[in-house]
Amino acid sequence: MNRQRPPKGIEWTRVKRVIDGTLVELPGYTWNPTGGCLHGCTWKMPDGSVTECYAKTVAERLASSAYSQGFEHHYWRPHALKEPLQLKEPAGIFVGSMADLFGHWVPAEQIREVMDVMEQAHWHTFQTLSKYPVRLVEFNPFPANVWVGVSLPAGHLMKLEGGARALKAYLRHMEQIEASIRFMSIEPLWFDVASVFADWLQSHERLPFEWVIIGAASSGRSIFQPKADWVQSLLDIFDAQQLPVFFKGNLKWHKWRGDFPQNASIRLQEPQLWPLQSLKTALAG
Ligand code: SF4
Repeated sequence: MNRQRPPKGIEWTRVKRVIDGTLVELPGYTWNPTGGCLHGCTWKMPDGSVTECYAKTVAERLASSAYSQGFEHHYWRPHALKEPLQLKEPAGIFVGSMADLFGHWVPAEQIREVMDVMEQAHWHTFQTLSKYPVRLVEFNPFPANVWVGVSLPAGHLMKLEGGARALKAYLRHMEQIEASIRFMSIEPLWFDVASVFADWLQSHERLPFEWVIIGAASSGRSIFQPKADWVQSLLDIFDAQQLPVFFKGNLKWHKWRGDFPQNASIRLQEPQLWPLQSLKTALAG
């Protein structure tokens, strides 16, 4: 596991939780019992350049035995499975910073082994993040100490309408996830996401997540800020919904938000599986 030390690293792994009445910042880690990813995400930047996934860049830079067959390959690392159990101090642990644990190519038995370790290591707070939410319901209910995240669809080969359609499909799948905390990572914020959430709220009482991360687009050292009205519209919706918001360090905004969900109670509901075809149809758009 890799410690995410401030000011660098993935800041939202350093979860703040109320423990015995006191707000405590937990040390943050990444943990990669699987590696590699076949989603092939790329984003078109506002200057016209196209950037690829940061994990792919890092993996190829490492060019080590850890990614001997490239990044777009599935690696299973059973030797890393017990690492969280060996860490006795409570921590926030992002599972799969170099992978999508719930990618369609990952054998279910491997995911279940990872889930078993997360459940055994109940003193940690685990965060998973996927761009394939259709598969998450297969693993309901998630252990109480696992926060289940879904990322905004990537912006490659997709027109804005396609991104909005895919996000709507993502929300329908998120609604079916049984987890104490579901979260949405809106990074990079590359289109007017707020309008999708506003549409959703026309027919639903609430958004299907309990925490939100918002970030800017980055390509190497270049950072591209989202339109201010996109951010403001999102904040208006999240504030009305009383959803905690966490800003990535690359987002410029006043006033700063770095909030975490505090009431992680198990939320169980009758599972209604959305067919895989609904997501494929949306993505094809
Ligand atoms: S899902 Fe995540 S790890 Fe996979 S290619 Fe996309 S950004 Fe990279």
